[in-house]
Amino acid sequence: MATGLIAVSYIGAAVLFILSLGGLSNQETSRRGNVYGIVGMAIAMAATIVAVFLDVADFEIPLMILVPTMIVGAVIGISVALKVEMTQMPQLVAILHSFVGLAAVLIGVGSYVDPATAEHYKGVEKTIHDVEIYLGVFIGAITFTGSVIAFGKLQGSISGKPLMLPGRHLLNLAGIIVSLVLMGVFLDADTVPDGLWPLLVMTAIAFVIGAHLVMAIGGADMPVVVSMLNSYSGWAAAATGFMLSNDLLIVTGALVGSSGAILSYIMCRAMNRHFVAVILGGFGTSGGTAAADEAGEVVPTSVEETAGMLGDAKEVIIVPGYGMAVAQAQGTISEITNRLRDRNVNVRFGIHPVAGRLPGHMNVLLAEARVPYDIVLEMDEINEDFPETDVVLVIGANDIVNPAAQEDPNSPIAGMPVLEVWQAKTVVVSKRSMATGYAGVDNPLFYKENTRMLFGDAKDSFDEVLKSL
Ligand code: NDP
Repeated sequence: MATGLIAVSYIGAAVLFILSLGGLSNQETSRRGNVYGIVGMAIAMAATIVAVFLDVADFEIPLMILVPTMIVGAVIGISVALKVEMTQMPQLVAILHSFVGLAAVLIGVGSYVDPATAEHYKGVEKTIHDVEIYLGVFIGAITFTGSVIAFGKLQGSISGKPLMLPGRHLLNLAGIIVSLVLMGVFLDADTVPDGLWPLLVMTAIAFVIGAHLVMAIGGADMPVVVSMLNSYSGWAAAATGFMLSNDLLIVTGALVGSSGAILSYIMCRAMNRHFVAVILGGFGTSGGTAAADEAGEVVPTSVEETAGMLGDAKEVIIVPGYGMAVAQAQGTISEITNRLRDRNVNVRFGIHPVAGRLPGHMNVLLAEARVPYDIVLEMDEINEDFPETDVVLVIGANDIVNPAAQEDPNSPIAGMPVLEVWQAKTVVVSKRSMATGYAGVDNPLFYKENTRMLFGDAKDSFDEVLKSL
């Protein structure tokens, strides 16, 4: 009876997770999607605690350990979530992926050395269980160190430049071959000590592969890396589910793994890159075209002039980027949008798929600032409209509006689709300095004749523009 109820709860939670993903795919339904996810997770956790309490879980853990551990985890989770700034979300996501990877490693090794496992699994079943452990630990270890390095790169504590070790593909290949050989040794082992050393050596190798893979990936490819690690963390969770014979973990892991893989594919398409090329790394190695060589003059503008241009415009497109998130300027931008729309100016937003530091980053900020969804358009929907646009406001965006992607075949971001803002009559770029964006590539847009640079923090600048309007 109890096991039946727990199975039903798990199925209910799995259905809620699927509904949650469905909801999150659309801005109008995303809140509902979030609620489904929260309820699903609450049911899953309650069912697990009840299973442990009634002693019908597939694993054994004293409640005295489970409950305090969950409380400590919840307190840390809540305090971090309350403190984290929107701009630090990508790092938070990366570090959370690393936890999933580390959990898979610890559970795998723990499950292998647990005497109960040896009693429970015999013959073919044991071989299958050992394969699950080995693969789970391998994927988990790669996810762990890969995510820690991604965290460092997003946080800025590790350089965004790709690390190009000589013969790096061979190094990775050698690591994979040695891991496969060790798998043979591991599966042949009859006793735990005989099997433990190949498992641990492989774990160390997988730690190195994970770190090396992500170190080799350059700035502009990070969106794909983040979504790829998201996918890996899902597969690591699914592998953990197999190890623990927990169906819900298998389903949830598979959902995360496959949706992460689809997201990686979408990101690759958005950046016009092949998935394999991204994984192999090395993108963004050369320094790009020195902007100074481009010649041309940088023309600064003022708050009053910007307000004047907006006041005279009929068609305005706003292109937000990472700097808008840093400055937290979305509220001011939303108010300016309302003010202009009241004056019958057609204001729309152009969103690049990799703007900001997280897939959907800009959509979240604009939704938070209550910008109507119907004026927020994807790059493909708006790119043709720039020539008929009077003023484009580029708010803290850089790489996603870089014409070098189209004009300079030697640029590290050559071939990446960008928002063609320079086609508009006037482009106002709001940023603090002439610094490059995340990819570290200079931007010839700043030197174009129709570009005006509005230097300063985006929120400060546009608070003033709003006043002038
Ligand atoms: P960029 O990082 O290219 O540029 C952001 C710009 O914002 C900087 O040039 C900076 O210039 C400016 N800025 C920073 N703070 C402020 C401020 N307070 N006020 C005004 N401006 C500010 O961002 P984009 O959104 O254009 O491009 C995203 C980049 O991030 C791409 O290279 C993408 O590949 C990468 N990426 C994206 C991820 C995703 O999933 N979306 C994940 C990881 C990386 P200054 O310092 O002069 O102010």
